[in-house]
Amino acid sequence: MLEADRTRARRTAARRAAIRRRRVGSALVAVSAVLVTGVALAAHRSAVPAAARHAKATAATDGATRVPPATAPDATTRPRSPRVSRPGTARVVGSAPTSVKGVALTFDDGYCVRCVGALVTAVESTGAHVTFCPNGAYDRAWRPYAARIRTLVAGGQVELCNHTFTHAYLPALTATAVRRELERNDAWILRTFGVSAKPLFRPPYGAYNATTLAVAGSLGYTRVLMWSGTLADSSQRTHAYLLRAIRYWGKPGAIILGHGNYPGTGAVLPQIVAILKGRGLQTMTVSELLAGQRAARA
Ligand SMILES: [Zn+2]
Repeated sequence: MLEADRTRARRTAARRAAIRRRRVGSALVAVSAVLVTGVALAAHRSAVPAAARHAKATAATDGATRVPPATAPDATTRPRSPRVSRPGTARVVGSAPTSVKGVALTFDDGYCVRCVGALVTAVESTGAHVTFCPNGAYDRAWRPYAARIRTLVAGGQVELCNHTFTHAYLPALTATAVRRELERNDAWILRTFGVSAKPLFRPPYGAYNATTLAVAGSLGYTRVLMWSGTLADSSQRTHAYLLRAIRYWGKPGAIILGHGNYPGTGAVLPQIVAILKGRGLQTMTVSELLAGQRAARA
């Protein structure tokens, strides 16, 4: 809890500093940071109808950042291609085309040991393809499952995504600090799970600005992950609530936001997978979803 308090205090101080900077800084950056902050707050309050508003707000925010589209489909989105970490334009992605018969389930943070364990066990038992966006600050919750996750990564079932080391509110940070957050977390992911998270990056709270995108792109994070639907499991939810959420949001091409923070999410994962299967939708890692299909296994 002390760590959480310190993080909260740092974030508050950083936000105040950001507000001061915004007064004298670029109007465009200020506007998008404010929009994004609103989106993040909405996400944390959301029930399903609120989540619907949130998804619309996310789309609007993506537009406001004027992120240019990728120049061309590149090797990073092709099945089983080697991870490419070349610097490039950081492209914000919130979903895949509805022609894709799959859904990318993504699970962030993971500050609860048994919650991460429940997710890993469910991924193993269902054969689901998912994406984990862990923070190195929660190493104690992830480390016990590192070997099993390595196996899932090697089997193509799990993909990793950088969510920063301390779960930082990035619009309040300098470019140097953003870089440090991303590099520190990637070093931890590489050490723990044996792969780099590049090119996938999800900013905490879905909050980013022009500086965030520039730094991410320069490091090779060319896919900035948002979402089109959410389990809204940043707080404790009933199983029924989580299943209602996936029935609402589980559509072709969707990227679903979930967390490894409460035990319910892992507990209902088998039912989530079954609901999607009933709709003719496969679970896919984010890279598979963006490629339009599951990777062919050798
Ligand atoms: Zn998070």
